[in-house]
Parts: sequence; structure tokens; C-alpha cells
Amino acid sequence: MREHIRSTVSSGGRISRELATWLYQEADDALLKELAGTVRARFHPPRRATYLKMAIVNYTNVCVARCDYCAFYRFPGDPESYLLSTEQVCAKIEALVAHGGTLVGFNGGFHPDLHIEHYTELFRTVRARYPDVEFYEMTVAEFMFVTKRQGLDYDESARRFHQAGTRWITGGGAEVLDDAFRLRHSPAKYKVDDFYEAQRALIRNGVGTTATMVIGFDETLDERMNHLERLRDFQDELGVLPSFLCWTYKPHNTDLAGEEVPLSEYLRWLAVCRVYLDNIEHIRTSVLTRNADAMLGLLYGADDFDLPTEDEVTQMAGATISHDFEIILQSARQLGFEPVARAPLTPQES
Ligand code: SF4
Repeated sequence: MREHIRSTVSSGGRISRELATWLYQEADDALLKELAGTVRARFHPPRRATYLKMAIVNYTNVCVARCDYCAFYRFPGDPESYLLSTEQVCAKIEALVAHGGTLVGFNGGFHPDLHIEHYTELFRTVRARYPDVEFYEMTVAEFMFVTKRQGLDYDESARRFHQAGTRWITGGGAEVLDDAFRLRHSPAKYKVDDFYEAQRALIRNGVGTTATMVIGFDETLDERMNHLERLRDFQDELGVLPSFLCWTYKPHNTDLAGEEVPLSEYLRWLAVCRVYLDNIEHIRTSVLTRNADAMLGLLYGADDFDLPTEDEVTQMAGATISHDFEIILQSARQLGFEPVARAPLTPQES
């Protein structure tokens, strides 16, 4: 099996779902690193890693979805609920700019009172005020909610965002794209077919998007592979996803609770993602959830990472964010990589 997979990958071939499953369960780390390095080298110089500084601005924690793995949300009317004003949002962007950051990812909840116009007005204001910053304006999950709430179809909603200047709505809120998983943990959020339908509409209407995944809940390996298989097919068909970011569930203060997956499991999974998702250029390792340990992901096929300055969602669930970025960059160098600051990506057209 080892030699079969090795010769398939080294000759530029693609591995099946069954082989990816075998790799995760049976391969030793040396083989995983070797294979992930081979696929990585199809896209990137072997010892180069890229990064940028970014903030996730959580403009509201109001949400009606009730995902059991979420420590962040509050119901409407809860004394701890909030909705940031435009000036409060701008203060957070100023803090990022002071750190030399160039990307803001907006992430809130399913706020029942916010309309598309609220979002487009906020985004129009911040884009005008900070022309050197790129904005990931919401996640596909939030896009789905506001679209349905307003009684629109996804194409019409995507068209309105695009016309208002939106460049990116990321593939965030995906966690594990498997309907059995969704039913167990977040039945009110969406079904998988619906998620991809929304993402297709964004792409059709000229809005850039990305791919994400979160592991470490109680998902089975089969559910994880369902996520990867459908994602690879989607990218084969449309070819517009520039990056895939996988991070790990943080269990603190959540109803689901549990233990965080060990670093070794995260790294093995990253390697499988790099080898299996052979049609996505950037595989990103998560400093947000693994701090400097995330740099080990560069040995397991990742080529890119964020240096986050804030994200309330993961911090509420136990993530710690350090602004001592040099420690993280130094970790990359000690592993033999040259970390290079990069500009935010440009949306790709299908
Ligand atoms: S994960 Fe997102 S959609 Fe789910 S409860 Fe939390 S904020 Fe709401």
C-alpha cells in the first residue's frame, strides 16, 4: 500500500477516498510528511511559507442557531448580547492596522434583525475608510441566514452584495459538512446541499469564497471524508477556491464540551488534506487555535498561515492569542522555513 500511494503521488496522480482513509489510519508520520511535501511542492517552493496579519471582527454575538459547539453566541435580549456600532468596528480595524495587519474577517451570528442593507452599508463604510485593508465580509453561513430571513434567493442576494462592492464571503461556518454531523450539533444552521447551493450562487455572481473545516468534535472519519470528498469535487468543477483552512474545535464553555484534539492528530489530518485536496493551492495551518505549534503544520503540507490579532469566537472557547508574532515566525524559521509576508489574495473567477 505504501509504495502504491507513494508512486501515485510522486507521478502527479490523485489518491482515492479509500487511500486517504488508509493514510490517516495506518501511515506513519514520516510517510504523511513525505507525501504532503510532494503535493505541496507542486504549488510552492519547499522551504517557503507565507503569512499575513489579520483580525476577526465579531460585530455581533446575537445568534438564534444554537450550535452546541459554540461558546460565543447569545440569544436576542440576553444581557451579554451586543451589536457593535460602525465606530466600534472601525476602532477594531484601527487596532489591526496598528499591528501592520491587512485583512479583516467579519464574523457574527444569525442576528434576526439585521438586513442585507445593514451589512452592505457597514462594509461600504469600512472599505472607503481603509482602502489598504481587504475584507472578508461574512461567512457563507451568515449569508445563507440573512438571505432567507429577507425572503430572497441566493442569486439575488449575492448580486446585491456584489453590486454593493463585496469581494469576499468566505467558506466559514462549514465545520464538518456532513448532514448527520449537522443534525447532531447544529440542526438549525443549514443542510450541506444548501451550503453548496449558496456558495455556488456567490461564485456565479462574482463574489470570492474559500474553503474551511473544523475537526475535533465527535465527528467520525467517514464524516470528515464526506467533507473532503465533496469539497474536492466542488473544486474540480469550479476551480475558484484559493485556500483551505482547517482548525480544531475549542471545547471550553460550550454545551458539547469534550477535549481538544491532540496536536499530533491535527497534523496528521492536515497532511491528509494536502494530499487529498490536490486541487487547492493554499493549505493553511491555524495559529488561531494552535499558536506556535501550528508552524509544525508546515512540515505536514501547509504553506500559509494567519497571524491573528483577535477573534472572540475562539477566545470564548479557550483560544489564546499572542501579539508576540516574532515567536511564531521564529518557530517557522527553526523548522527550516522562510516565512514571507504576503498581500491578501484576490478573488478568482470561474
Ligand atoms: S457557530 Fe455561528 S451559527 Fe452556530 S451558534 Fe455560534 S455564532 Fe451561531
